[in-house]
Amino acid sequence: MKLLLVEDDTQLVDFLRPKLQSSGYIVESVDNGIDAEFLAREEDFDCIILDLGLPQKAGLEVLKNLRHHQFSTPVLILTARDSWQERVDGLKAGADDYLGKPFHYEELSARLAAILRRRYGHLDSVLEFQDLTLDLDKQALTKACGETCQLTAIEFRLLRQLMLNPGKILSKTELSEHIYEEDRIKDSNVIEVYINRLRAVLGKSRIKTFRRQGYRLSGH
Ligand code: CA
Repeated sequence: MKLLLVEDDTQLVDFLRPKLQSSGYIVESVDNGIDAEFLAREEDFDCIILDLGLPQKAGLEVLKNLRHHQFSTPVLILTARDSWQERVDGLKAGADDYLGKPFHYEELSARLAAILRRRYGHLDSVLEFQDLTLDLDKQALTKACGETCQLTAIEFRLLRQLMLNPGKILSKTELSEHIYEEDRIKDSNVIEVYINRLRAVLGKSRIKTFRRQGYRLSGH
């Protein structure tokens, strides 16, 4: 799951980034409206956290432009405390939810989870695919036999991406975008290593390789 965090308050970004990362999100951040709009159009994010008070281009304008061009990525806006007008303007412009500053991380985390549940159509904190159940809070996998496996952070993100897209072939690039931080590991061959680790957990035949196309989670 990849988030775009748009916030010009560097202290807040420094506070939020590690917390979001430990919740299992990949975080890209920008500190102005122009870069925000560019990246939001350019890359595939699961959700955008958008501060409204931004330099260069206001958050509200970024949001309006994205919606005007049919970008449907969910957007959670951060608004000034007690500014009901900002919230109303943001919701009218197409925000999915809002949070007034200052806020507790737990509230941001719960709202994000709710937005993502709505987006991906699963109603609690587990993802299911046939005999596999992935607990999104504990980052653990339970198989039909009842065996529970704790996954490493990268294994968890990789399996989550596969389980969110059952039956779809996902390219290495697509997978690595949702698994690594920006610029950290650009070599998509590393994906192969993690795919093989997951195969060791799930059984070899559960992740099929499609030459030059990518991988697909398969039934048992
Ligand atoms: Ca601001």
